Amino acid sequence: MTQIIKNARQINGETVDIAVKDGIIQEITEKYAGDGVEIKPGEDVYISPGWIDLHTHAFPKYEPYCAEPDEIGFRTGVTTIIDAGSSGADDIDEFYEIAQQAKTRVLSLLNISRSGLRHLNELADLSTISLPAIEAAVEKHPDFIVGLKARMSASVVEMNDIKPLQLAKQLRLKEPLPMMVHIGSGPPAIGEVLDVLEAGDVVTHCFHQKQDNHIFATPEAVHPALLRAMKRGVHLDVGHGTSSFSFPIAKQAKEAGIAFDTIGTDIYQRNQLHGPVYDMATTLTKFLALGHSLQEIIWAVTGAPAAIIGRDDLGVLREGCPADATFFTVEKKPMQLMDSYGHTMESPFSIKVKAVMIGGEYIELETSN
Ligand SMILES: [Zn+2]
Repeated sequence: MTQIIKNARQINGETVDIAVKDGIIQEITEKYAGDGVEIKPGEDVYISPGWIDLHTHAFPKYEPYCAEPDEIGFRTGVTTIIDAGSSGADDIDEFYEIAQQAKTRVLSLLNISRSGLRHLNELADLSTISLPAIEAAVEKHPDFIVGLKARMSASVVEMNDIKPLQLAKQLRLKEPLPMMVHIGSGPPAIGEVLDVLEAGDVVTHCFHQKQDNHIFATPEAVHPALLRAMKRGVHLDVGHGTSSFSFPIAKQAKEAGIAFDTIGTDIYQRNQLHGPVYDMATTLTKFLALGHSLQEIIWAVTGAPAAIIGRDDLGVLREGCPADATFFTVEKKPMQLMDSYGHTMESPFSIKVKAVMIGGEYIELETSN
């Protein structure tokens, strides 16, 4: 049976009809002539490609960085969530099974440590970085594992400094994969981490404000290693999280012309329930408050993350692609916002999710924020 999303208002201002059948977008046209069940989102509702969150914790097994995939996925308007290293090779089969039960599309950035987040100092023991274990996991789950994850901060690597990342970068995988690397308190020093990253890699928590190890913690205006990395084609992910997003750093970045590529939330159960993350809509509203355009913000959760994980069928509304879409409003309703360090901002607007479509299934949502 064909479904027709009538008068779908896109963020470029164009209004189209979108015909969907068997989970796939069949036709995008000004006025769809065929028959079908009509979905009428409403005049003030925008439709965008289904949102993609590049940094989540969707493997429910290990506290505290864990959540049920659908709780942080489709119920919050996000149709694809990418788990950032909650699971390593030891748990990937179990995580894959859980992911298949979810309605939300779930993908994995495999932790370079085979133990994943079973221990929170997973890179303190270098013997857990195993090429055969990673190869076996990727061979078994080639569509599920879209990259690797390395958490490069002092509490994770302990005495090992930059070594885990250097080791991981020396692994000769049959198929090279992008690597998401988290930055935070050093050692390792931020410059050393950034200098190891290659084109296609992602640095997450890019606007954190920890110690003297953030992107402006140099005598120069911007850390020179960041400029070099960006020039090489390294991507910047926001990775908000409980302790990694600073309004002052994000403002300074905007003024310095340091543009983020993706807005990952680093959401898990606790920072969803108690903040400061809450959900993707709240996180996107923060970037509206900072003065970024809606186009820029939506691209950072659709086309940009899709390109990083090599899925050109996601993050786009195009004939022949999976029918994943997010329906949302931008309401003239002031919203009080807080970063990870207690700084507040007020936004005159708030983004609210109204519904999602995943693989052709349309689901209306109660909005929470
Ligand atoms: Zn994370």
